[in-house]
Amino acid sequence: MIDADVNLLGMPRGDLERLFVGIGEKPFRARQLMQWIYARGVLDPQRMTDLGQSLRQELAVRAPIRLPEITAVQESADGTVKWRLAAGETQAIETVFIPEPGRGTLCVSSQVGCAMDCSFCATGHQGFNRNLSAAEIVGQVLLARRELGDAGGRSPITNVVFMGMGEPLANFRAVVQACSVLVDDLACKLSRRRVTVSTSGLVPQIRRLAEESRVALAVSLHASDDELRNELVPINRRHPIAELLEACWEYVAATNTKEITFEYVMLDGVNDSPAQARRLAGLLGGRPAKVNLIPFNPFPAGRYRRSRPEVVDEFRRILSAAGIVTVTRRTRGDDIAAACGQLAGQVENRVRVPLGSKLQEVSWTV
Ligand code: SAH
Ligand code: SF4
Repeated sequence: MIDADVNLLGMPRGDLERLFVGIGEKPFRARQLMQWIYARGVLDPQRMTDLGQSLRQELAVRAPIRLPEITAVQESADGTVKWRLAAGETQAIETVFIPEPGRGTLCVSSQVGCAMDCSFCATGHQGFNRNLSAAEIVGQVLLARRELGDAGGRSPITNVVFMGMGEPLANFRAVVQACSVLVDDLACKLSRRRVTVSTSGLVPQIRRLAEESRVALAVSLHASDDELRNELVPINRRHPIAELLEACWEYVAATNTKEITFEYVMLDGVNDSPAQARRLAGLLGGRPAKVNLIPFNPFPAGRYRRSRPEVVDEFRRILSAAGIVTVTRRTRGDDIAAACGQLAGQVENRVRVPLGSKLQEVSWTV
């Protein structure tokens, strides 16, 4: 009999096969189920006609598949869509779809809030409540696909990035499971290059990710020296820049990915000087690295300002001159607070300790 708390959504193929074998079914039932869920968008087991009556019944009763519930939708003037999704009774997470010519990127959340406490981030300011399950992560993709409709039989979502609420590598197990479903040919069928995990720099988990998943990696660097990075991204006190970059280059070698994307939020007068650009060029020049400069997106209670456009251009010019491919990310959806770092959802903070000691208190699942 299937355990009552099992969630078939977001379950990797191998786990599903073991589950079916465990209840006396053939492993190919996993394929059939995945095709219903992901290719045909059918979630009701009673409609999965090739499964056999008693199996359908058991699935319907013991393991019903539910997508997260949408509690609000906002659409930006630029076409960006933000959904607020219930994460339990009183909390909410956010998922954002960003349409661009020739591609559509879905930005998914991995946690309710975030414990990493980066000083420039709205999610970090809200604190942390809990990890999302693989079902809640993959559910965001299915739900967005359903809401957006198919574009001529093809999913409008070509890329998935873990850049919504939360630190994905602090929710390692569920994120790896979700990634395996996203790239599975029987499920979401995305190429591993089109699934990006963005991390603030959890070094041991970067190493494990290389072993367990080979998706694209983005690293939120934001500073070129430890003193400043300690202040902006507190996890740097545990894993300083040199150690983080070492893990990045190992990741590229171990996974045969082309490069790491380094994200750098441009904060006026804080990390945007030409000297800082040159130091960054020194760290990344000649390495498999590209840089995304992100104009800071303000949020209530934020204490920073966005760098001036000419300052961002000069920063980019210095990096480009050092041979580093550098793009300035266009701000999308900021009129509906859907831009990078503006996602806040509804979080009941469970981390009530002062900044700094917070990092010691929270234990992440690895
Ligand atoms: N926790 C992960 C992924 C989610 S944040 C991480 O930090 O990488 C996604 C990106 O948005 C990160 O690069 C993050 O540093 C950036 N970001 C956070 N707050 C921001 C803000 N207010 N303005 C612009 N970018 C921000
Ligand atoms: Fe968390 Fe990323 Fe925000 Fe830092 S930037 S607080 S890691 S969501």
